[in-house]
Amino acid sequence: MAEQQDLEPPAASLTSIQYEPPVLSATGGTYALALRLVAPQRISVGALGAHAFPAGMYLYVGSAWGPGGLRARVGRHLRCGTRLRWHIDYLRATAAPMALFLAPDAHLECVWADDLIQHPSAGIVVPRFGASDCSCRAHLFHLEAVALTRLNLSGAPQFVDMRAWSPRGAHV
Ligand SMILES: [Zn+2]
Repeated sequence: MAEQQDLEPPAASLTSIQYEPPVLSATGGTYALALRLVAPQRISVGALGAHAFPAGMYLYVGSAWGPGGLRARVGRHLRCGTRLRWHIDYLRATAAPMALFLAPDAHLECVWADDLIQHPSAGIVVPRFGASDCSCRAHLFHLEAVALTRLNLSGAPQFVDMRAWSPRGAHV
């Protein structure tokens, strides 16, 4: 059970303390965002329709090669309240960021999706979520039991613990 507890929000997130978001690189690259959904919820995911999302940890894999790179894309995910454009925006609107995995200058999006689907507790809630332009089954995985700090993703990505980050609108 200890593994499931290692990224529970610390007591500090229950206060009104505001934390700075992580410093993000403006270069392009691959990222994975860990989001925690506190309670099960039915969420409409744009054209993919409404789906029942179990509570727990989710890992979303994406890449950012546009202007502003990882800083622009991941910063957008963290701010919340933005226009719903990507599939992940719909889940992000109700789930809180817990951690980030970053691989600047690396094309690892589908490699990480493959890494994650091999995790013993990984499940796919919405087929094709985030994977409209590739042959992956999905780029979003629900993980029943996961120790984020020991998650094995190819290429030794940077790990950013975001438990202590509690922005307005995070709904922790
Ligand atoms: Zn893919």
